[in-house]
Amino acid sequence: MSEMAESRIVLHFPKKLLDQPVISTAIQRYHLSFNILRANITQDQEGLMVLGLEGEPQSIEAAVEWMREQGVRVRPLDKDVTRDDARCTHCGACVVVCPTGALALDLDSREVIFDAEQCVACGICVPVCPPRAMSIHF
Ligand code: SF4
Ligand code: SF4
Repeated sequence: MSEMAESRIVLHFPKKLLDQPVISTAIQRYHLSFNILRANITQDQEGLMVLGLEGEPQSIEAAVEWMREQGVRVRPLDKDVTRDDARCTHCGACVVVCPTGALALDLDSREVIFDAEQCVACGICVPVCPPRAMSIHF
């Protein structure tokens, strides 16, 4: 059996692509499955979607390339949700609100670890962080 992978990506659709079935076409064409983690329309009328794509790594890459050719901006999720490690005081306020365990206390070091692989870009951690270390750049 071939190796399967999951990739979390952030998609921006220009207005002209909003009514086009870009995602469903890409999914069918490259035999992937997907979870929509978040979807909305931004202030400048762009479509924003956070997706988890599952499939063979080469197929995910090919699907991302194809979506880019259609005019969709695609970035890995971990480029869009970030922590400024220099600001983080490891207070733990974010750990109790993060729904996925992406922010968790490491019991040995007593430091709060951010694992972008588990993040679903819900944004809950951003306002609760006293020094504003967490940010989402959509
Ligand atoms: S709330 Fe902010 S400062 Fe506190 S542990 Fe989380 S990221 Fe660090
Ligand atoms: S955006 Fe949501 S899932 Fe990601 S680290 Fe913050 S609270 Fe956790």
